[in-house]
Amino acid sequence: MTTTTLGHSPFTRASYRGIDLYAPNRAPSRVDLSDNTNRHGMPPAAAAALRNLDPETVTRYPNLYAHTLKESLASYCGVPAGCVVTGCGSDDVLDSAIRAFAEPGDAIAFPSPTFPMIPIFAQMNGLRPIAVPYSAQFEIDVAGLLATRPKIIYICSPNNPTGTLTSTDCISRLLSESSALIIVDEAYIEYGGQSLAQLAVTSDQLLVTRTMSKAFGLAGLRVGYAIGSPGIVAEVEKSRGPYKVSTVAERCAVAALDSDMKWVEQRVVEDVVARERLFDELESLGLSPIRSQANFVLVPVRAAAEVALSMRQRGVAVRPFTALPVVGEALRISVGPWKMVRECLDALQASLEERA
Ligand code: PMP
Repeated sequence: MTTTTLGHSPFTRASYRGIDLYAPNRAPSRVDLSDNTNRHGMPPAAAAALRNLDPETVTRYPNLYAHTLKESLASYCGVPAGCVVTGCGSDDVLDSAIRAFAEPGDAIAFPSPTFPMIPIFAQMNGLRPIAVPYSAQFEIDVAGLLATRPKIIYICSPNNPTGTLTSTDCISRLLSESSALIIVDEAYIEYGGQSLAQLAVTSDQLLVTRTMSKAFGLAGLRVGYAIGSPGIVAEVEKSRGPYKVSTVAERCAVAALDSDMKWVEQRVVEDVVARERLFDELESLGLSPIRSQANFVLVPVRAAAEVALSMRQRGVAVRPFTALPVVGEALRISVGPWKMVRECLDALQASLEERA
């Protein structure tokens, strides 16, 4: 990730100093496996809903809190609609939840490495972000997280960027041994692991966040959501504010949930097969990838930034990390149609050979 250092104004809030714009390298590439989106395209019913949208609808405001989307999400997740809150991507839902449940000065603890936006949302809301490293086997340090006396504990499972899972037992321990709000980010749950959505409905301490940016192929529409008890989701909704999901996004997302599930499930199956194949191919290149339950594989690689640059020059984008806690330098490679992954492997092999 390149960072853009901004000039600060005399009005800049103290807690905003030191925060830069999020700036991963998004330059277009022939094969882009850098951002964990669905590389098979847009689901067909959602695409038809987009084509058939009456332009007149966009002259009016969208639904206040996206109630039709909530109904479709609730039936997809098997929970009551009153237990769902939506947002402009799950980024928005996470940011709103942090703001809803923590006061400036409170701590938010999370295993590290994890989703890099969490410490940024924490800082923007005046919280103290506290990173607690994973073990070498990527288990969370329950005692270490609790020792920070956090107001919120964030766990991503499957985790970005490692692809590893946190067991339900560990989450249960956090729930019983702490009074913190536990946020479990299930952005990649369609690709592996056991969802905690049902538990979130009856717990008054658990919020599960999810997205339509990954398995559903709708990242550009920005649709995220969370599941929790009615009391919890009402607070997130209050903090989020009205009109955050556009009419276009709501129509397409509802079409996908109501009519595209077979398409989505088939693409997920293909991506899981590609993930396991990618893992094996990386091992046969002499590398030691981390076993993943998501739609990407993290593989430690020396000089990761340089290797990623050389792959880009061959038309393939992956996400380099230069100093991940526990892992060190690594490349995160998303999966998609095998032809893309094959091209990526060829570019990786050529780039590694060039450096040997
Ligand atoms: N959580 C995780 C773990 C992610 O990787 C991402 C996107 N990369 C998000 C949340 C945010 O996704 P979105 O805002 O597109 O829903």
